[in-house]
Amino acid sequence: MQRWQREINITIGLVTPALVVSFFVGHLSTLLLAVTSFLLIRQTLAVNELEKWLNKGAFGDRRDQKGIWGDIYYHLWKIKKTEKKRKKKLSKMVEQFRSSTDALPDAAVVMGSYAEIEWSNRACRDVLGLKKSDKGQRVPNLIRNPQFVQYLKSNDYQQKIIIPSPVNENIILQISIVPYGDGLRLLLAQDVTQLKNIERMRTDFVANVSHELRTPLTVLKGYLETLVEMDDGQSIYSRSFQNMATQTERMNLLIDDLLLLARLESKTKSSQCVNAPELLKQICQESRLQAKDACRIELILESEAKIQGNEEELRSAFSNLVTNALKYSPADKPVKVRWQQADDGVFFEVEDFGEGISNADIPKITERFYRAEVKRNHKINGTGLGLAIVKHVLVRHDAKLEINSQIGKGSRFKCWFPAKKIC
Ligand code: ADP
Repeated sequence: MQRWQREINITIGLVTPALVVSFFVGHLSTLLLAVTSFLLIRQTLAVNELEKWLNKGAFGDRRDQKGIWGDIYYHLWKIKKTEKKRKKKLSKMVEQFRSSTDALPDAAVVMGSYAEIEWSNRACRDVLGLKKSDKGQRVPNLIRNPQFVQYLKSNDYQQKIIIPSPVNENIILQISIVPYGDGLRLLLAQDVTQLKNIERMRTDFVANVSHELRTPLTVLKGYLETLVEMDDGQSIYSRSFQNMATQTERMNLLIDDLLLLARLESKTKSSQCVNAPELLKQICQESRLQAKDACRIELILESEAKIQGNEEELRSAFSNLVTNALKYSPADKPVKVRWQQADDGVFFEVEDFGEGISNADIPKITERFYRAEVKRNHKINGTGLGLAIVKHVLVRHDAKLEINSQIGKGSRFKCWFPAKKIC
């Protein structure tokens, strides 16, 4: 017999005698009220018993309870048992996660919506100086590096930042933040000291070698100039002298570009409010003087916006683009130089109607020493470093380079400066 049937049987077993008795002696409603009250009190006592059992933690299997209550106890006990098993599994998983993140060499901090510490791993103590007791404290109150605080506030975590460790200035950290869940953020700090040291060694090496090559090259250039001057053009060496002079000039340009790149990589940023329209007038004027046809350059100044930046760096980036446009387009085609303001910033644009760049080459031309292979009637000299310099300068100014080009039709190089750079 099912347990619920037992409950019905009890009810029938009480109601039937009450009906029979009332048939003989009357008082049906009184008898039914008595039976109902009895059943109600019985269930109330059972509910009370259940409440006590739950209150004490629902320990023990009470399946042996009579009637429907046996089933209820059994189901509750089963739910509790499954819950307990799940909890055990979950805490084991959490424990495993904790020990694996503690073993990580990178520092990891889970931050709440107010940037308060919710959880941090062991590496945080060594590289960020955060203690276990700092839980609940706001991260910007503990890591006060201004660049870090600004990064945290910005809510734009696409880029990573590099800062010295708050514990040891000699440790260099790469910080990244990953937002997830409901307002939570995961802060990761990776020790990149070794990587940065190797990078610095490379930059220093290139800068030192370039610098050391300068003196012998100047001596060579001097002698060659004298030889070229003395040469009457009839000697069998005339062509060799000319070639040697061209190559030493190329080496000179290479050294200049390499030194400039090294400076861009190692120098800390310094900026002032640069009068960009005035700078462009000067660049175009200088280029006109150098170009065979002075009328080729058309300067279109559609904005008077000045930008925050380093004038020397901007001069070299802009003039590299103008020089390229002149170099890689025929002498009878114009080169348009534009300075224009848009909703989200201001841009510098150089447009030429020359040989153009293939789609395959566009992503590569900003790499160092990359020169697109183009069949031309005449050789165009270059170092392959001009656009690498442009890219570096723009990164240092939070600007972006956009290249649009079509083979045989021409190219357009656009440098986008965000609105925050306008001064
Ligand atoms: P360089 O001009 O000294 O070779 P750059 O880094 O300035 O070095 O340019 C890299 C390459 O990109 C060039 O060799 C050339 O093939 C291509 N390039 C740059 N600017 C233009 C342009 N305006 N039109 C066509 N090709 C260009």
